[in-house]
Amino acid sequence: MPKFQAPRGTRDLLPADATTYRRMSDIASRLSELYGYRPIETPMFEDSAVFERGIGEVTDIVEKELFRIRSPGSDEDRWALRPEATAGICRAFVEHGMHTLPQPVRLATFGPMFRYDRPQAGRYRQFYQWNVEAIGDAGPAIDAELIELALRFVRDVGVQDVELHLNSIGDAACRPAYIAALVEYLAKYEDALPPTERHRLRANPLRVLDTRDARTQAILDDAPTIDAFLCPACRDHFDSLLAHLDRLEVPIHRAPRLVRGLDYYTRTAFELYQRGAEGQQSALGGGGRYDGLIELFGARPTPGVGFALGIDRIAMLAAKQGVAESIGKPVAVVVGADPAATDVRLALATQLRAAGVATGADLAPRKLGRQLEGAAREGAHFAIVIGDELEAGQVQLRDLEAGTQRLVNVADLVRELQRAHASHRHGESDTSPTAT
Ligand code: AMP
Repeated sequence: MPKFQAPRGTRDLLPADATTYRRMSDIASRLSELYGYRPIETPMFEDSAVFERGIGEVTDIVEKELFRIRSPGSDEDRWALRPEATAGICRAFVEHGMHTLPQPVRLATFGPMFRYDRPQAGRYRQFYQWNVEAIGDAGPAIDAELIELALRFVRDVGVQDVELHLNSIGDAACRPAYIAALVEYLAKYEDALPPTERHRLRANPLRVLDTRDARTQAILDDAPTIDAFLCPACRDHFDSLLAHLDRLEVPIHRAPRLVRGLDYYTRTAFELYQRGAEGQQSALGGGGRYDGLIELFGARPTPGVGFALGIDRIAMLAAKQGVAESIGKPVAVVVGADPAATDVRLALATQLRAAGVATGADLAPRKLGRQLEGAAREGAHFAIVIGDELEAGQVQLRDLEAGTQRLVNVADLVRELQRAHASHRHGESDTSPTAT
């Protein structure tokens, strides 16, 4: 047992995982740019009050999961590590007077978040999110833009079978009547509720809908849903959102009990799940409208909407679906019949790298058979075998997966590799003439 290990609930992202995360971060950056969401970086820690106010005092995140920090010499925990990004971004929006910019202000950030939660599969104390916000537009078209963007990310990462769960949670005008009806219903079962849910019922009844307790979930099966309580303005907003999503051909799954349990959350609420894997633990991400939040930071009322995708869970799903396997592997490895000719191998690899092809080179003076084994172990699609043909400007291009090989002019190598690798990734077979 080594003397030191990574703290409980944290992980080292070794090269294979780190490559997947890096790739997801690249996809997030590319999509942010494509959709006009500009990057923002806020501190990893903030005044605790930013989270207490911006997330809500009666939430698991603030009650139990904040990593609080004490500054040296102080006797209070003034700071906390960020458990999510929205609160810090809204704080920054107000601090920098972003309401004077053209509205809405579209912002995105990618990075680690920290929650002192009980670690388990898919639940860590340091985890990663891609967070996207649009502040200053009451929607509903922008809600649809964000939802489609979240789904586009998952699709571009290569993960399949992700379902959008969607609800409207009303606003300050209509939610109170719904909460009253919910409380009236749950009060009948109060004795059957576990202490946590009883506490929630009194402190913040909507949060009972988020319960992880199976017995409470069964009780909730017959509870009233918010649908019947939406006021005309919230109903219009939701109907229009549905129409926009339909226009974008985004399939939805109505989730009448999906809530975000805080007053400043309004109207749109959504979560992404792998099909058939519903339940709190497995949400890949979630988001919604928070029209009352900016006001809590002392600015004039400003509507906002955003989402956070859980990169760790999406990466896990990508690995399960085999998506991650080809990421970060070399397209080709240069090997050679003459073990000692490492300079020739390195020179060709350097030439291919300069042309943008991810290329490895076997730089150990070992036999060709060994070099080929190494290339296969690295997961390369091709081995480029240097032999006597090099004098005529040719090398053997060996497809390690198909077990075929053919002579290729060195001058054509980049084009050949790019074409063959691209068609391979898209599931087509390389139909060029081959000879083994
Ligand atoms: P939330 O802000 O709680 O809705 O979180 C948004 C997404 O972040 C969730 O759907 C998860 O995918 C992910 N997430 C939240 N908490 C954790 C955690 N402790 N470990 C890993 N992923 C998390």
